[in-house]
Amino acid sequence: MNEQLRITPEIIKNAPFIECECGSVLFTERILFKKISALISPTNAEELYPMPVIVCDKCGKAHPKTDPLNMVPDNLKSNVKLT
Ligand SMILES: [Zn+2]
Repeated sequence: MNEQLRITPEIIKNAPFIECECGSVLFTERILFKKISALISPTNAEELYPMPVIVCDKCGKAHPKTDPLNMVPDNLKSNVKLT
């Protein structure tokens, strides 16, 4: 990796934590399962697709920054302002 692109411990130390709208900075990985219909599944059988989601430890909502592809349903997502 290019030396100039490396994220150093010093950079990490000085960076702010991502904060949930409830103020918590601790998050946990949980799993959502998508049910892929046999009609559109490449295997022609119904498939369960596990989808990891990072949620707040305190209020259980997903931080939008951890969902860049916008795959998490709105009712599971916090309304924190993206800056
Ligand atoms: Zn929260």
